[in-house]
Amino acid sequence: MALCIVYIVPGMAQPQAARSYTSEKVLLSGGDLHIEIDRHTGILRALRHKTAGTIIRDEVSRINHLWTLSMIDQGQSVIVGPQDFVDFEIMCAAPNEAQLIWRSYKGESASAFTIAVHIRIDSLTSLSYWNIAVAGMSDMILSRVSFPQVSGLDELADGTLAVPHWMGELMRQPRQALQSSGGHSFSWTYPGLLSMQFITLYDKEGLYLACTDTAMYAKQFAARFDQDRGMVLDIEHIPSLSPSATYKIPYSVVIGGYQGDWMTAAALYKSWAVQQDWAQQSRLKNRLIPDWVLTTGLWIWNRGRSEEVLQPLYALRQQFDEPISVLWHWWHQGSYDDSFPEYLPPREGTDSFREHITLAKKHGIHALVYMNALQWGDQTASWKKQEAARYAIKSPSGQLHTHVYNVFTNRSLTNMCVGTPFWRDWYADLADTLLRDFGLGGIYMDQACIQRECYDPTHGHPIGGGNFWAHASRQMAREVRERGSIATALSGEGSCEAWLPSLDLFLSLQVSRERYAGDDGWEPIPLFQSVYHEYALSYGSYSSLMSPPYDEKWPQANRPDTQGLLDSVYSQQFMIEQGRSFIWGMQPMLANFTVDQLLQRPQEINYLLRLARLRKQYPQYLLYGAFCRPPVILPAPLMQQVTLSKLSIYAGQNEHVRTFQKDMPTVLIGAWQSADGQLGLPIVHLGSVKTQIRLDFKAQDYDLADRGNLYRSIENKKQFIGTYQNGKIYTVLELEPREALVLEIEPIN
Ligand SMILES: [Zn+2]
Repeated sequence: MALCIVYIVPGMAQPQAARSYTSEKVLLSGGDLHIEIDRHTGILRALRHKTAGTIIRDEVSRINHLWTLSMIDQGQSVIVGPQDFVDFEIMCAAPNEAQLIWRSYKGESASAFTIAVHIRIDSLTSLSYWNIAVAGMSDMILSRVSFPQVSGLDELADGTLAVPHWMGELMRQPRQALQSSGGHSFSWTYPGLLSMQFITLYDKEGLYLACTDTAMYAKQFAARFDQDRGMVLDIEHIPSLSPSATYKIPYSVVIGGYQGDWMTAAALYKSWAVQQDWAQQSRLKNRLIPDWVLTTGLWIWNRGRSEEVLQPLYALRQQFDEPISVLWHWWHQGSYDDSFPEYLPPREGTDSFREHITLAKKHGIHALVYMNALQWGDQTASWKKQEAARYAIKSPSGQLHTHVYNVFTNRSLTNMCVGTPFWRDWYADLADTLLRDFGLGGIYMDQACIQRECYDPTHGHPIGGGNFWAHASRQMAREVRERGSIATALSGEGSCEAWLPSLDLFLSLQVSRERYAGDDGWEPIPLFQSVYHEYALSYGSYSSLMSPPYDEKWPQANRPDTQGLLDSVYSQQFMIEQGRSFIWGMQPMLANFTVDQLLQRPQEINYLLRLARLRKQYPQYLLYGAFCRPPVILPAPLMQQVTLSKLSIYAGQNEHVRTFQKDMPTVLIGAWQSADGQLGLPIVHLGSVKTQIRLDFKAQDYDLADRGNLYRSIENKKQFIGTYQNGKIYTVLELEPREALVLEIEPIN
């Protein structure tokens, strides 16, 4: 650094418990952001935003260190922190930029082992960019870098934590949840379960914590509660293991403040994210998705043989003239969740399977069939014959990653390494057979949007973390496409930006998360769609009117006594799930559909079909549109107590439907902007009595011209309902029970 200026902040009163603490801080300023760093310890003392206010405040702690390194020293794991260095120095090259350096490891002034943190505030965006570099590691190997560890969050910790865990979830009062969980922490790996590289914690003011990684390196975002530090957010960077003297994270961490909520943070992220290669190469944006997928009006997620899976669809087609597609489980030879990849021949026989698929296509019904992209049953004959363990992922100590999903058979599945040509070839060969020999529409690649580390040195990929997994995953999808037909559709489980160039569809079951997760404090939000709706097609739901079916290949002794229609007390849950899919711009899905539902649950089926038809009328918003913040409903919508069911797919063994209640709004609303600048507001009324709502908002909030027309659309009926002028949009809507509509705002330029 050529110039060193230390900004001294006037001292605060000294608490007794921190007698030795000095209040001298280095102040960095740029745009609306101010950062204070302890000049003696490098601790982040404060982060303030001119309009949002104080985001981070930590006046006294001596342990809220910024970083921790996990290292391997002569075969032993070692944790290294700032406290292991005797000398600390902070230098400022400019009012908005600083370098923090830790030297003299274990008191040895001659040690070359140094840690340097660089901070710069971008004055235009008021975002701060942070990096960490490690030098002089000698024989030690770096395995993890935890940086930054952000504490001093008392201002926000009783607010809301929003996380792009696949589609997106939020938790209110996260400190309380973390504290009461007895040391539990939440963590999400990116790319993978974390679909985008940011999280946000907000109350009146918000903290934005992100990375600018363009190359899909492995990292983990976490939230935890520490008795001494309170709530802590951190990012753990996971490099590949290599004996190098130096390391620097190959991107920046971003810390910013804002006033708003998760939608504000998502907009901040979107301005960076859609410029990246995964967005530019997205299959939806580049119109690479097969037509049959784009035109699908409704997905049916059924399981079993053609008779059970496809026959009900022919009956449904009598009532629904939009294309129906099927997500098909349990078509395969072996039993579910313990026999993969022993899929072929299909359990009903090769000829029957082929004939039914051909017939279905003649009726406009296409199928995505289940094929797990990660797992191999380790008690199958093929596991031994192919010596599959050689190509499975290994932990640092060489252990396999094995898990028993199937509680009926207790046979486990083991994670394969996508970094091995063997596994990619094996999977692509299977996919080729299905796509070519059977003429299937595509493959549902279960567990595709998941990342693992692998420490097997014989696999030929960098060891440990790094970014080999995401690249190898894309390679696997390419190999499937190269062998299959051009119209092959590939779906992932969950959502993730890293797979936008590889996958056509992203299964987003969180729209129905209460059904499998219960009331665990997390609520679904359309966070992924709010950034990537026009780049990624989200579909799917666990939403069902039935108890989960039972695989004929599972032990008959465990078959549950009661299977069939769920009690109609849960109908409102079904309506909410389907309503969310509609307003959140997703392709709808009905799970476990049987013909008798047409007769026994006509109200629910008709409601679903109405939503599906209306959605198909507005692809410019609900398929290709960009997410906008929905206008506020006036008066605040009535809340209703909804009876919800939770039941796992493995119901039948010591598990029955669990019931819980939750207050939920009776009117749902979304907002989507079309490419030509019009605004579409999908609205669903879930109440059972007629109601009236008002909308009152400004045209400029949606970049709309000052005047225009308003249209109200229900199924096959678009009605002009008035105009707006002077930039003020106001309308009163009468809503019938269970009504769904699209309010369209057409500006006159
Ligand atoms: Zn491997």
